[in-house]
Amino acid sequence: MRIGIISDIHGNYTALRTVLESMGQVDTIWCLGDLVGYGPQPDECIETVATLPGLCIPGNHDWGVLERLDVDAFSRDARAILEWTQEILTPEHTQYLQSLPMTMKAFGAGFTLVHASPRNPMWEYLLDLFDAAECFQHFASRYCFVGHTHVPLIFRDAGGVVKAAIPEPGEAIRLNVRPTSDGESEGNWSRMIINPGSVGQPRDGDPRAAYMVLDIPDDATTPGWDWTANLTFYRVEYPVEETQALMRSLAFPTRLVSRLSMGL
Ligand code: ZN
Repeated sequence: MRIGIISDIHGNYTALRTVLESMGQVDTIWCLGDLVGYGPQPDECIETVATLPGLCIPGNHDWGVLERLDVDAFSRDARAILEWTQEILTPEHTQYLQSLPMTMKAFGAGFTLVHASPRNPMWEYLLDLFDAAECFQHFASRYCFVGHTHVPLIFRDAGGVVKAAIPEPGEAIRLNVRPTSDGESEGNWSRMIINPGSVGQPRDGDPRAAYMVLDIPDDATTPGWDWTANLTFYRVEYPVEETQALMRSLAFPTRLVSRLSMGL
């Protein structure tokens, strides 16, 4: 089974389309939230994700639009686009966002999907080892996929010692490897918190859209832990200037327009 994992689309439909084309054939999509906010085409993004087979959880911007979070807690630019999004979003798409459960388990109980962190699903920016170490206490599965920071990142809990790694584009890691009796290294057994990075507004200095693909063997039983999956990180160039031109035509804040080409 081939699973595409995406996060933080943020109304950037040009980036989303490019990612889905570049990903190729997948059986299902897991979306880690923030379909809207910052970007000029929230309806198109929701329409696309809602019609794909897969799972989707909401992010803080999705909840901001629904006023489940206080819009005053967002930055001025973010708030301006949230208010614009509230006005233009179709009732069906607002309803879709309302229907999303805050966290999900996927593939049996093998994976936890949450937008920000397992400890604080809507707000925590999980970027350092101390926070990550505490967050490993807040989910039961072996793997947790998060978004929110817009930075691809792997936290690995190897026997109580938490380490972080920044994945390179094209890099693959193996998940769910058999224990050392099979001659595999213990590190591969680690529990992990993994962030694919952002489709629509990357913030690691690389403006290319980010996503991951998880390959689970077709004969894997759910949630049998005696198989190996490959998780590959990808970056893909998309026509940033198309999204920027749309944003300018809608008089979006200049800062939000220019950050896309810098990956900030
Ligand atoms: Zn986001």
